[in-house]
Amino acid sequence: MRRPLIAGNWKMNTTVDEAVILVKDMLSELNALNNVDRILCPPFISLQRVSEIVKDSTVVVGAQNMYFKEKGAFTGEISPLMLKVLCKYVILGHSERRQFFGETDGIVNEKLKAALANGLLPIFCIGESLQENEAGKTRDVLTRQINGGLKEISSNKDIVVAYEPVWAIGTGKAATGNQAGRTIEFIRDMLASVWNNEIAQSVRILYGGSVTAANISEFIREPHIDGALVGGASLRAADFIEIVRQTAAIKQ
Ligand code: PEP
Repeated sequence: MRRPLIAGNWKMNTTVDEAVILVKDMLSELNALNNVDRILCPPFISLQRVSEIVKDSTVVVGAQNMYFKEKGAFTGEISPLMLKVLCKYVILGHSERRQFFGETDGIVNEKLKAALANGLLPIFCIGESLQENEAGKTRDVLTRQINGGLKEISSNKDIVVAYEPVWAIGTGKAATGNQAGRTIEFIRDMLASVWNNEIAQSVRILYGGSVTAANISEFIREPHIDGALVGGASLRAADFIEIVRQTAAIKQ
């Protein structure tokens, strides 16, 4: 019922030339695996080149962030108007944005609204820190992030949610499939209470945090997990293709 989705977040890696090489290295194999949505999220400056390279394929492009204003005196920022001609998706509320750039739930909420108003599909990231996890506060944190992030946004099955426990991002210490599956089931229940059950059953929820070709199957086998947001492993063409290949095989 829910189409699987694998997104590669290249973060602040790759020059334009390196991004071109990376996308060319993956494109033909990724293109063939079309029972999964495949999204590449390069840095802003490579969006145009990567979009041109994938344009005749079934692979699509996403941005890693966006400001919520459409234009104006916001030096260094990128707006939804600029992005919507270049890409389909935008990652919003990534924990690195929250942690290093002071993004609050309120800012993430503004960004989600602006993305939707401009026809961009948001990948809305949520997740607890190690400290919050150890203090048994995971569900409280997720509840706050969902309520804050989705404030005044009416039910929308086009929003993709990514559950990314901060302690698992870039650390090599992924959650277990079972842990992630149970938390994602909780997130789905939350969406049912914020919106309604029908929409909650249609929204795709991804796991993110040290996903590799060696552990993807553990997550994808969980019934509530619809795919993954992949950081480090998305910078290696063979690994990313293998993650998509396993997802395609398991979710068919
Ligand atoms: C991410 O950047 O969203 C991420 C999950 O990174 P990694 O896969 O490297 O942990």
